[in-house]
Amino acid sequence: MKEITAIKLMPHLDPDGLLRLMTWVAVLSLLVILSLAGYGIHRVFTAHVTHNAEETAVRLSELLAEECRLLFDKSGKLTLPTTNRERLDRRLRTLSAPFDVVKIKIYDAGQKILYSTDPTIVGQIDDGNRRLTKALGGVPDSHLESRETVLDLVNERQFDVDVVETYVPIRNGQQVAGCFELYMDVTRYRDEINRGVLTATGLLTLVLAVVFTAAFLILRRGVVQLRQAQEQLTQLATIDPLTGAFNRSEILNRARKEASRLRRSMTQAPDQAIALVMIDIDRFKTINDRYGHPAGDSVLRQVVRRIRIELRDYDLFGRYGGEEFLAILPGTDNSAARAVAERMRRAVGETPLDLEGQNLPVTISLGVAVLTGDILDLTGTLQRAEEALHHAKSTGRDRVYCAETNRAHQETTP
Ligand code: GH3
Ligand code: MG
Ligand code: MG
Repeated sequence: MKEITAIKLMPHLDPDGLLRLMTWVAVLSLLVILSLAGYGIHRVFTAHVTHNAEETAVRLSELLAEECRLLFDKSGKLTLPTTNRERLDRRLRTLSAPFDVVKIKIYDAGQKILYSTDPTIVGQIDDGNRRLTKALGGVPDSHLESRETVLDLVNERQFDVDVVETYVPIRNGQQVAGCFELYMDVTRYRDEINRGVLTATGLLTLVLAVVFTAAFLILRRGVVQLRQAQEQLTQLATIDPLTGAFNRSEILNRARKEASRLRRSMTQAPDQAIALVMIDIDRFKTINDRYGHPAGDSVLRQVVRRIRIELRDYDLFGRYGGEEFLAILPGTDNSAARAVAERMRRAVGETPLDLEGQNLPVTISLGVAVLTGDILDLTGTLQRAEEALHHAKSTGRDRVYCAETNRAHQETTP
Protein backbone atom coordinates (compact mmCIF):
# COMPACT_ATOMS: atom_id res chain seq x y z
CA MET A 1 0.00 0.00 0.00
CA LYS A 2 2.84 2.34 0.98
CA GLU A 3 4.69 1.42 -2.20
CA ILE A 4 1.67 2.32 -4.34
CA THR A 5 1.39 5.74 -2.65
CA ALA A 6 5.09 6.43 -3.26
CA ILE A 7 4.77 5.50 -6.92
CA LYS A 8 1.74 7.80 -7.28
CA LEU A 9 3.60 10.69 -5.63
CA MET A 10 6.63 10.33 -7.90
CA PRO A 11 5.22 8.99 -11.14
CA HIS A 12 8.14 9.99 -13.43
CA LEU A 13 11.07 9.04 -11.27
CA ASP A 14 12.89 7.03 -13.90
CA PRO A 15 16.65 7.73 -14.22
CA ASP A 16 16.02 10.68 -16.59
CA GLY A 17 13.27 12.05 -14.33
CA LEU A 18 15.68 11.76 -11.41
CA LEU A 19 18.33 13.71 -13.32
CA ARG A 20 15.78 16.42 -14.21
CA LEU A 21 14.63 16.59 -10.58
CA MET A 22 18.24 16.86 -9.37
CA THR A 23 18.90 19.66 -11.90
CA TRP A 24 15.92 21.64 -10.60
CA VAL A 25 16.98 21.01 -6.99
CA ALA A 26 20.52 22.19 -7.88
CA VAL A 27 19.25 25.36 -9.60
CA LEU A 28 16.94 26.15 -6.67
CA SER A 29 19.64 25.50 -4.07
CA LEU A 30 22.04 27.64 -6.11
CA LEU A 31 19.55 30.51 -6.01
CA VAL A 32 18.87 30.05 -2.29
CA ILE A 33 22.59 29.73 -1.42
CA LEU A 34 23.48 32.80 -3.49
CA SER A 35 20.64 34.89 -2.04
CA LEU A 36 21.53 33.93 1.53
CA ALA A 37 25.27 34.34 0.93
CA GLY A 38 24.72 37.70 -0.83
CA TYR A 39 22.59 38.90 2.08
CA GLY A 40 25.13 37.62 4.64
CA ILE A 41 28.10 39.17 2.85
CA HIS A 42 26.20 42.45 2.57
CA ARG A 43 25.52 42.32 6.31
CA VAL A 44 29.18 41.65 7.07
CA PHE A 45 30.40 44.51 4.88
CA THR A 46 27.77 46.88 6.28
CA ALA A 47 28.68 45.92 9.85
CA HIS A 48 32.33 46.56 9.01
CA VAL A 49 31.58 50.04 7.62
CA THR A 50 29.29 50.85 10.55
CA HIS A 51 31.89 49.67 13.03
CA ASN A 52 34.62 51.81 11.41
CA ALA A 53 32.35 54.84 11.38
CA GLU A 54 31.39 54.22 15.00
CA GLU A 55 35.06 54.01 16.00
CA THR A 56 35.75 57.27 14.17
CA ALA A 57 32.71 58.88 15.79
CA VAL A 58 33.82 57.73 19.23
CA ARG A 59 37.34 59.05 18.58
CA LEU A 60 35.88 62.32 17.40
CA SER A 61 33.59 62.59 20.38
CA GLU A 62 36.61 62.01 22.65
CA LEU A 63 38.18 65.03 20.99
CA LEU A 64 34.92 66.91 21.34
CA ALA A 65 34.70 65.92 24.99
CA GLU A 66 37.49 68.37 25.67
CA GLU A 67 35.11 71.09 24.56
CA CYS A 68 32.40 69.77 26.85
CA ARG A 69 33.20 72.29 29.52
CA LEU A 70 31.69 74.88 27.15
CA LEU A 71 28.38 73.00 27.45
CA PHE A 72 28.03 73.25 31.20
CA ASP A 73 26.91 76.35 33.10
CA LYS A 74 28.40 77.51 36.33
CA SER A 75 26.11 75.23 38.37
CA GLY A 76 27.47 72.22 36.41
CA LYS A 77 24.25 71.67 34.35
CA LEU A 78 24.41 70.85 30.65
CA THR A 79 22.63 73.91 29.25
CA LEU A 80 25.11 75.37 26.71
CA PRO A 81 25.29 78.94 27.92
CA THR A 82 24.63 81.46 25.13
CA THR A 83 28.02 83.04 25.64
CA ASN A 84 29.77 79.78 24.72
CA ARG A 85 27.61 78.97 21.74
CA GLU A 86 29.62 80.65 19.00
CA ARG A 87 32.93 79.39 20.35
CA LEU A 88 31.64 75.83 20.62
CA ASP A 89 30.31 75.98 17.07
CA ARG A 90 33.71 77.11 15.77
CA ARG A 91 35.59 74.48 17.75
CA LEU A 92 33.29 71.64 16.67
CA ARG A 93 33.52 72.61 13.03
CA THR A 94 37.34 72.83 13.19
CA LEU A 95 37.68 69.53 15.01
CA SER A 96 35.30 67.61 12.75
CA ALA A 97 36.65 69.05 9.48
CA PRO A 98 39.17 66.19 8.82
CA PHE A 99 36.36 63.62 9.27
CA ASP A 100 33.43 63.03 6.94
CA VAL A 101 31.01 64.58 9.43
CA VAL A 102 27.95 66.14 7.86
CA LYS A 103 26.06 67.05 11.00
CA ILE A 104 26.55 67.25 14.76
CA LYS A 105 23.82 67.52 17.37
CA ILE A 106 24.06 67.83 21.14
CA TYR A 107 21.15 66.77 23.33
CA ASP A 108 20.63 67.37 27.01
CA ALA A 109 19.32 64.61 29.27
CA GLY A 110 15.75 65.65 28.43
CA GLN A 111 16.33 64.86 24.70
CA LYS A 112 16.29 68.56 23.82
CA ILE A 113 18.63 69.72 21.08
CA LEU A 114 20.99 72.26 22.66
CA TYR A 115 23.23 72.57 19.68
CA SER A 116 23.27 71.53 16.02
CA THR A 117 25.35 72.43 12.99
CA ASP A 118 21.89 72.93 11.54
CA PRO A 119 20.73 75.89 13.71
CA THR A 120 17.07 75.64 12.62
CA ILE A 121 16.41 72.61 14.84
CA VAL A 122 18.01 73.89 18.06
CA GLY A 123 15.53 73.81 20.93
CA GLN A 124 13.45 70.91 19.54
CA ILE A 125 12.85 67.81 21.62
CA ASP A 126 13.44 64.48 19.87
CA ASP A 127 11.24 62.26 21.98
CA GLY A 128 10.43 58.74 20.91
CA ASN A 129 13.95 58.28 19.52
CA ARG A 130 14.90 54.86 20.89
CA ARG A 131 18.56 55.08 20.02
CA LEU A 132 18.86 58.48 21.66
CA THR A 133 17.23 57.05 24.80
CA LYS A 134 19.70 54.17 24.70
CA ALA A 135 22.68 56.57 24.46
CA LEU A 136 21.27 58.68 27.31
CA GLY A 137 21.27 55.44 29.25
CA GLY A 138 25.06 55.36 28.74
CA VAL A 139 25.38 53.01 25.73
CA PRO A 140 26.82 54.38 22.42
CA ASP A 141 24.87 53.34 19.33
CA SER A 142 25.65 53.35 15.59
CA HIS A 143 23.53 52.56 12.58
CA LEU A 144 23.94 52.77 8.83
CA GLU A 145 21.19 54.72 7.11
CA SER A 146 20.94 54.91 3.34
CA ARG A 147 19.91 58.20 1.80
CA GLU A 148 16.52 56.61 1.05
CA THR A 149 15.80 55.50 4.61
CA VAL A 150 17.34 58.16 6.83
CA LEU A 151 14.69 59.57 9.22
CA ASP A 152 15.12 62.98 10.74
CA LEU A 153 13.07 65.60 12.45
CA VAL A 154 10.36 67.08 10.26
CA ASN A 155 12.10 70.33 9.41
CA GLU A 156 15.64 68.98 9.61
CA ARG A 157 17.98 69.64 6.70
CA GLN A 158 18.47 66.43 4.71
CA PHE A 159 21.73 65.29 3.11
CA ASP A 160 21.78 63.34 -0.10
CA VAL A 161 24.31 60.88 1.30
CA ASP A 162 24.45 57.52 3.12
CA VAL A 163 25.29 58.16 6.75
CA VAL A 164 26.30 56.28 9.85
CA GLU A 165 24.37 57.90 12.65
CA THR A 166 26.25 57.57 15.97
CA TYR A 167 25.03 58.54 19.41
CA VAL A 168 27.79 59.00 22.06
CA PRO A 169 26.89 59.80 25.67
CA ILE A 170 28.34 62.97 27.29
CA ARG A 171 29.30 62.27 30.88
CA ASN A 172 29.59 64.50 33.84
CA GLY A 173 31.59 62.35 36.18
CA GLN A 174 29.65 59.06 36.42
CA GLN A 175 26.39 60.60 35.25
CA VAL A 176 25.22 60.87 31.65
CA ALA A 177 24.41 64.55 31.18
CA GLY A 178 23.59 64.49 27.50
CA CYS A 179 24.53 63.01 24.15
CA PHE A 180 26.35 63.77 20.89
CA GLU A 181 24.82 62.73 17.61
CA LEU A 182 27.23 62.58 14.70
CA TYR A 183 26.37 61.94 11.08
CA MET A 184 29.31 60.48 9.18
CA ASP A 185 29.10 60.47 5.40
CA VAL A 186 29.80 56.91 4.24
CA THR A 187 28.48 57.23 0.69
CA ARG A 188 31.85 56.25 -0.76
CA TYR A 189 31.62 52.94 1.12
CA ARG A 190 28.36 52.05 -0.61
CA ASP A 191 30.18 51.35 -3.90
CA GLU A 192 32.83 49.50 -1.92
CA ILE A 193 30.13 47.33 -0.28
CA ASN A 194 28.43 46.68 -3.62
CA ARG A 195 31.76 45.80 -5.24
CA GLY A 196 32.62 43.51 -2.32
CA VAL A 197 29.24 41.77 -2.42
CA LEU A 198 29.44 41.36 -6.21
CA THR A 199 32.99 39.96 -6.11
CA ALA A 200 32.23 37.58 -3.24
CA THR A 201 28.95 36.31 -4.71
CA GLY A 202 30.56 36.12 -8.17
CA LEU A 203 33.34 33.92 -6.79
CA LEU A 204 30.82 31.82 -4.88
CA THR A 205 28.71 31.44 -8.05
CA LEU A 206 31.80 30.26 -9.92
CA VAL A 207 32.73 27.72 -7.23
CA LEU A 208 29.14 26.45 -6.93
CA ALA A 209 28.76 26.29 -10.72
CA VAL A 210 31.93 24.14 -10.94
CA VAL A 211 30.78 21.90 -8.06
CA PHE A 212 27.24 21.52 -9.41
CA THR A 213 28.44 20.92 -12.98
CA ALA A 214 30.86 18.24 -11.76
CA ALA A 215 28.07 16.66 -9.67
CA PHE A 216 25.70 16.85 -12.66
CA LEU A 217 28.22 15.18 -14.99
CA ILE A 218 28.92 12.38 -12.49
CA LEU A 219 25.20 11.90 -11.91
CA ARG A 220 24.48 11.91 -15.64
CA ARG A 221 27.11 9.22 -16.18
CA GLY A 222 25.49 7.19 -13.42
CA VAL A 223 22.07 7.72 -14.96
CA VAL A 224 23.27 6.59 -18.40
CA GLN A 225 24.78 3.44 -16.86
CA LEU A 226 21.61 2.87 -14.84
CA ARG A 227 19.47 3.25 -17.95
CA GLN A 228 21.67 0.82 -19.88
CA ALA A 229 21.49 -1.64 -16.99
CA GLN A 230 17.70 -1.20 -16.88
CA GLU A 231 17.45 -1.79 -20.63
CA GLN A 232 19.62 -4.90 -20.32
CA LEU A 233 17.49 -6.16 -17.46
CA THR A 234 14.29 -5.51 -19.40
CA GLN A 235 15.82 -7.29 -22.38
CA LEU A 236 16.85 -10.24 -20.21
CA ALA A 237 13.42 -10.38 -18.63
CA THR A 238 11.43 -10.13 -21.86
CA ILE A 239 13.50 -11.37 -24.82
CA ASP A 240 14.47 -14.89 -25.73
CA PRO A 241 18.25 -14.68 -26.29
CA LEU A 242 18.39 -17.38 -28.97
CA THR A 243 15.76 -16.04 -31.38
CA GLY A 244 15.30 -12.40 -30.30
CA ALA A 245 11.54 -13.03 -30.03
CA PHE A 246 9.61 -12.21 -26.82
CA ASN A 247 9.93 -14.93 -24.20
CA ARG A 248 6.90 -16.89 -22.97
CA SER A 249 6.01 -14.61 -20.05
CA GLU A 250 6.33 -11.44 -22.16
CA ILE A 251 4.25 -12.71 -25.09
CA LEU A 252 1.57 -13.76 -22.59
CA ASN A 253 1.73 -10.32 -20.94
CA ARG A 254 1.32 -8.67 -24.34
CA ALA A 255 -1.54 -11.03 -25.14
CA ARG A 256 -3.30 -10.00 -21.91
CA LYS A 257 -2.79 -6.30 -22.72
CA GLU A 258 -4.18 -6.76 -26.22
CA ALA A 259 -7.16 -8.67 -24.81
CA SER A 260 -7.98 -5.92 -22.30
CA ARG A 261 -7.58 -3.25 -25.00
CA LEU A 262 -10.04 -5.23 -27.13
CA ARG A 263 -12.39 -5.43 -24.16
CA ARG A 264 -12.27 -1.64 -23.66
CA SER A 265 -12.91 -0.84 -27.32
CA MET A 266 -15.65 -3.44 -27.64
CA THR A 267 -18.49 -0.91 -27.16
CA GLN A 268 -17.29 1.29 -30.06
CA ALA A 269 -16.21 -1.56 -32.37
CA PRO A 270 -17.91 -4.84 -31.46
CA ASP A 271 -16.62 -6.66 -34.57
CA GLN A 272 -12.96 -6.37 -33.62
CA ALA A 273 -10.85 -9.52 -33.24
CA ILE A 274 -7.38 -10.66 -32.29
CA ALA A 275 -6.00 -13.79 -33.90
CA LEU A 276 -3.68 -16.14 -32.03
CA VAL A 277 -1.46 -18.35 -34.15
CA MET A 278 0.36 -21.18 -32.40
CA ILE A 279 3.32 -22.43 -34.48
CA ASP A 280 5.40 -25.57 -33.98
CA ILE A 281 8.36 -26.88 -36.00
CA ASP A 282 7.69 -30.35 -37.37
CA ARG A 283 9.88 -33.22 -36.22
CA PHE A 284 12.41 -30.85 -34.75
CA LYS A 285 13.77 -33.51 -32.43
CA THR A 286 14.93 -35.45 -35.49
CA ILE A 287 16.90 -32.38 -36.69
CA ASN A 288 18.59 -32.13 -33.32
CA ASP A 289 19.32 -35.83 -33.26
CA ARG A 290 20.67 -35.90 -36.79
CA TYR A 291 22.59 -32.63 -37.04
CA GLY A 292 23.23 -31.72 -33.41
CA HIS A 293 21.90 -29.12 -31.04
CA PRO A 294 23.74 -26.10 -32.58
CA ALA A 295 22.19 -26.96 -35.95
CA GLY A 296 18.81 -27.11 -34.20
CA ASP A 297 19.48 -23.63 -32.78
CA SER A 298 20.31 -22.32 -36.24
CA VAL A 299 17.04 -23.81 -37.53
CA LEU A 300 15.11 -22.05 -34.74
CA ARG A 301 16.69 -18.71 -35.68
CA GLN A 302 16.06 -19.10 -39.40
CA VAL A 303 12.46 -20.18 -38.92
CA VAL A 304 11.81 -17.16 -36.68
CA ARG A 305 13.38 -14.82 -39.27
CA ARG A 306 11.16 -16.21 -42.03
CA ILE A 307 7.98 -16.02 -39.95
CA ARG A 308 8.67 -12.47 -38.84
CA ILE A 309 8.87 -11.22 -42.43
CA GLU A 310 5.18 -12.15 -42.76
CA LEU A 311 4.14 -10.10 -39.69
CA ARG A 312 3.07 -6.46 -39.54
CA ASP A 313 4.84 -3.92 -37.27
CA TYR A 314 2.14 -4.10 -34.64
CA ASP A 315 1.83 -7.90 -34.62
CA LEU A 316 3.49 -9.59 -31.65
CA PHE A 317 5.63 -12.67 -31.74
CA GLY A 318 7.16 -14.77 -28.98
CA ARG A 319 8.71 -18.13 -28.16
CA TYR A 320 6.02 -20.09 -26.35
CA GLY A 321 8.05 -23.23 -25.66
CA GLY A 322 11.13 -25.08 -27.02
CA GLU A 323 10.27 -25.02 -30.74
CA GLU A 324 6.80 -23.63 -30.35
CA PHE A 325 5.92 -19.97 -31.06
CA LEU A 326 2.91 -17.72 -30.62
CA ALA A 327 1.95 -14.86 -32.94
CA ILE A 328 -0.67 -12.33 -31.86
CA LEU A 329 -2.33 -10.52 -34.72
CA PRO A 330 -4.48 -7.58 -33.49
CA GLY A 331 -7.38 -6.50 -35.71
CA THR A 332 -7.35 -9.80 -37.58
CA ASP A 333 -10.43 -11.97 -38.08
CA ASN A 334 -10.52 -15.67 -38.76
CA SER A 335 -10.11 -15.66 -42.53
CA ALA A 336 -7.35 -13.01 -42.50
CA ALA A 337 -5.53 -14.98 -39.75
CA ARG A 338 -5.78 -18.15 -41.81
CA ALA A 339 -4.23 -16.34 -44.78
CA VAL A 340 -1.37 -15.00 -42.65
CA ALA A 341 -0.76 -18.44 -41.11
CA GLU A 342 -0.71 -19.96 -44.55
CA ARG A 343 1.87 -17.37 -45.68
CA MET A 344 4.02 -18.27 -42.67
CA ARG A 345 3.76 -21.96 -43.45
CA ARG A 346 4.90 -21.33 -47.01
CA ALA A 347 7.67 -18.92 -45.97
CA VAL A 348 9.25 -21.72 -43.94
CA GLY A 349 8.36 -24.82 -45.93
CA GLU A 350 8.66 -23.69 -49.53
CA THR A 351 12.41 -23.17 -49.56
CA PRO A 352 14.83 -25.40 -47.61
CA LEU A 353 16.85 -23.80 -44.83
CA ASP A 354 20.59 -23.38 -45.08
CA LEU A 355 22.65 -25.49 -42.68
CA GLU A 356 26.27 -24.48 -43.33
CA GLY A 357 25.80 -24.75 -47.07
CA GLN A 358 23.58 -27.83 -46.82
CA ASN A 359 19.88 -27.60 -47.79
CA LEU A 360 17.53 -28.69 -45.02
CA PRO A 361 13.81 -28.82 -45.69
CA VAL A 362 11.85 -27.78 -42.59
CA THR A 363 8.09 -27.46 -42.18
CA ILE A 364 5.85 -26.00 -39.53
CA SER A 365 2.32 -26.71 -38.30
CA LEU A 366 0.03 -23.89 -37.21
CA GLY A 367 -3.12 -23.66 -35.09
CA VAL A 368 -5.32 -20.56 -35.36
CA ALA A 369 -7.92 -19.33 -32.86
CA VAL A 370 -9.61 -15.94 -32.72
CA LEU A 371 -10.45 -13.78 -29.72
CA THR A 372 -13.60 -11.76 -30.48
CA GLY A 373 -16.47 -10.03 -28.76
CA ASP A 374 -18.31 -13.33 -28.38
CA ILE A 375 -15.36 -15.14 -26.85
CA LEU A 376 -13.31 -12.72 -24.77
CA ASP A 377 -11.52 -15.45 -22.87
CA LEU A 378 -7.77 -15.34 -23.50
CA THR A 379 -6.91 -18.59 -21.71
CA GLY A 380 -9.67 -20.42 -23.55
CA THR A 381 -8.60 -19.00 -26.90
CA LEU A 382 -4.96 -20.00 -26.25
CA GLN A 383 -6.13 -23.47 -25.44
CA ARG A 384 -8.17 -23.62 -28.64
CA ALA A 385 -5.12 -22.46 -30.65
CA GLU A 386 -3.06 -25.25 -29.07
CA GLU A 387 -5.76 -27.80 -29.80
CA ALA A 388 -5.90 -26.56 -33.38
CA LEU A 389 -2.12 -27.02 -33.57
CA HIS A 390 -2.45 -30.61 -32.33
CA HIS A 391 -5.08 -31.19 -35.01
CA ALA A 392 -2.68 -29.88 -37.62
CA LYS A 393 -0.04 -32.26 -36.27
CA SER A 394 -2.29 -35.26 -36.07
CA THR A 395 -3.69 -34.72 -39.55
CA GLY A 396 -0.30 -34.84 -41.22
CA ARG A 397 1.76 -31.75 -40.16
CA ASP A 398 2.91 -28.91 -42.49
CA ARG A 399 -0.57 -27.37 -42.37
CA VAL A 400 -2.77 -24.70 -40.80
CA TYR A 401 -5.74 -25.73 -38.68
CA CYS A 402 -8.38 -23.17 -37.69
CA ALA A 403 -10.29 -23.70 -34.45
CA GLU A 404 -13.20 -21.54 -35.64
CA THR A 405 -13.93 -23.37 -38.87
CA ASN A 406 -12.66 -26.72 -37.62
CA ARG A 407 -10.87 -27.04 -40.91
CA ALA A 408 -7.33 -27.88 -41.86
CA HIS A 409 -5.65 -25.98 -44.69
CA GLN A 410 -2.73 -26.82 -46.80
CA GLU A 411 -2.91 -24.81 -49.93
CA THR A 412 -0.73 -26.23 -52.61
CA THR A 413 2.37 -24.30 -53.44
CA PRO A 414 2.01 -22.71 -56.87
P1 GH3 B 1 6.48 -32.63 -33.57
O1 GH3 B 1 6.50 -32.62 -35.04
O2 GH3 B 1 5.40 -33.53 -33.05
O3 GH3 B 1 6.40 -31.28 -33.01
O4 GH3 B 1 7.81 -33.32 -33.13
P2 GH3 B 1 9.07 -32.58 -32.52
O5 GH3 B 1 10.21 -33.46 -32.61
O6 GH3 B 1 9.24 -31.25 -33.16
O7 GH3 B 1 8.61 -32.33 -31.04
P3 GH3 B 1 9.20 -32.81 -29.69
O8 GH3 B 1 8.39 -32.09 -28.65
O9 GH3 B 1 9.25 -34.27 -29.62
O10 GH3 B 1 10.66 -32.24 -29.67
C1 GH3 B 1 11.00 -30.90 -29.48
C2 GH3 B 1 12.47 -30.81 -29.33
O11 GH3 B 1 12.93 -29.48 -29.35
C3 GH3 B 1 12.97 -31.41 -28.06
C4 GH3 B 1 13.99 -30.45 -27.53
O12 GH3 B 1 15.22 -31.05 -27.29
C5 GH3 B 1 14.16 -29.49 -28.67
N1 GH3 B 1 14.47 -28.18 -28.23
C6 GH3 B 1 13.78 -27.42 -27.34
N2 GH3 B 1 14.39 -26.24 -27.17
C7 GH3 B 1 15.51 -26.23 -27.96
C8 GH3 B 1 16.55 -25.28 -28.22
O13 GH3 B 1 16.58 -24.18 -27.69
N3 GH3 B 1 17.49 -25.62 -29.10
C9 GH3 B 1 17.50 -26.84 -29.73
N4 GH3 B 1 18.45 -27.10 -30.59
N5 GH3 B 1 16.56 -27.73 -29.49
C10 GH3 B 1 15.56 -27.47 -28.61
MG1 MG C 1 7.75 -29.85 -32.94
MG1 MG D 1 6.61 -28.85 -29.62
